[in-house]
Amino acid sequence: DKTLHIVGGGMAGSEAAWQAANMGVQVILHEMRPKVETFAHQTGDLAEMVCSNSFRSDDDEQNAVGLLHWEMRAANGLIMNMADRHRLPAGGALAVDREAFAQSVTARLRTHPTIRIENSEITTLPEDGHWVFATGPLTSEKLGTAIANETGTDRLAFFDAIAPIVYFDSIDMSRAWMQSRYDKGETEEERTAYLNCPMDRDQYEAFIDALLAADKTEFHEGETATYFDGCLPIEVMAERGRETLRHGPMKPVGLTNPHSPDEKPHAVVQLRRDNALGTLYNIVGFQTKMKYGAQNNVFKKIPGLEKASFARLGGIHRNTFLNAPTLLDNQMRLRSRPNIRFAGQITGVEGYVESAAMGLLAGRLAAAEMRGHPLPDIPQDSAMGALIHHITGGAEAKTFQPMNVNFGLFRPVDGLKGGRRGRRDRYKAYTDRAKAAWTEWLTKSQLDATASV
Ligand code: FAD
Repeated sequence: DKTLHIVGGGMAGSEAAWQAANMGVQVILHEMRPKVETFAHQTGDLAEMVCSNSFRSDDDEQNAVGLLHWEMRAANGLIMNMADRHRLPAGGALAVDREAFAQSVTARLRTHPTIRIENSEITTLPEDGHWVFATGPLTSEKLGTAIANETGTDRLAFFDAIAPIVYFDSIDMSRAWMQSRYDKGETEEERTAYLNCPMDRDQYEAFIDALLAADKTEFHEGETATYFDGCLPIEVMAERGRETLRHGPMKPVGLTNPHSPDEKPHAVVQLRRDNALGTLYNIVGFQTKMKYGAQNNVFKKIPGLEKASFARLGGIHRNTFLNAPTLLDNQMRLRSRPNIRFAGQITGVEGYVESAAMGLLAGRLAAAEMRGHPLPDIPQDSAMGALIHHITGGAEAKTFQPMNVNFGLFRPVDGLKGGRRGRRDRYKAYTDRAKAAWTEWLTKSQLDATASV
């Protein structure tokens, strides 16, 4: 069977269909809306933006998401092309007229000679044929159950509880230190997996006050709060009692501060290494519904994090996503069922742009495989490569939570200085290196494809 079935016509599925069809493959795109609705989508259009109308920064020299825009444009990405066409003035951000955008994506796919759109819900993982599942954070319940039956319920989450992630190089190590609780861990790597930030009594009390006073976001309609067991937002823990955090994620036991060994900390905030490169650390147990501005203020009160810069802030959302590092291979195929690929937010990326990017890759990978000429490995130094490498291998599987693209996912560039100027130079070096790697990959995949015709 030479048809590629793509399930879900959101950001990822629309892009995947476009890419695969342009590589000469017949595509059927299965989209359940408008017959079956989600709590967030309002229309029957493909690629509907469910909330903000922004694709975030368009700066392809200093911003990782802007770099992803650049890479998708270079690959003739449909989402970027239509976003550019319906762009609204918004400073450095790529904001769009959402209705015109979604309608034009829908029209392009409807009129494509090798794409057929079927408005139906898919509720199983088929045994045969080539499939890409891109059903997103609001995957229908029946399909969610079918996926969980295949992966095991512990490998498919229905909510994310994201603790903020900090760039290691923005942490003040003259205040923080590296140590696992009770020095647990067999290997050096395990013992250095944790960083600790100490608080005295006054700092702790001020921190609790700030948490209680912070602005919080409300849950969306349709988001229930039944997931709360085991992942309460820190501000809710603080509301339950001023000492709750000190007996929970901020307990000061089993740790000695080498900067002042005689003084026992009143509370300790722990951070855990979030990627193999050691460039990112998450604040353990600090999932939160505080607004982003409030998080920035409150978390900078933590000693050692006064100048912290965040790769992503915390949140709690309804979100269906796989434990991709254990379930998917580096071609985004389900290890247990290689005829099935996943793409988009369900693979553990977060955001419109990242989802479209993973759709672009999945569409190309599937089409190339069907044509008998698999693509060369996706270069890790491109933004596409950094992201797919993170979700399918680089991220810690045990604590895996959805990820935005950011420079912490990139392999370091050696020999660059620190400081603000240094950061600009470093980001420029990342984006230059990424563009070269991505261009080379595109050329090489085209050559391989032409050679195969
Ligand atoms: P989607 O775009 O959601 O597409 C999935 C598609 O699959 C949908 O069209 C759905 O109808 C369809 N589908 C589901 N199940 C089935 C089935 N069984 N059979 C057939 N079709 C099916 N990201 C941002 O960048 N900015 C934001 O402001 C933002 N706000 C968000 C607000 C909410 C409430 C939610 C839930 C998410 C938000 N996101 C935001 C994340 C955003 O949804 C995703 O980043 C992006 O839309 C995901 O792309 P996707 O293609 O993976 O999923």
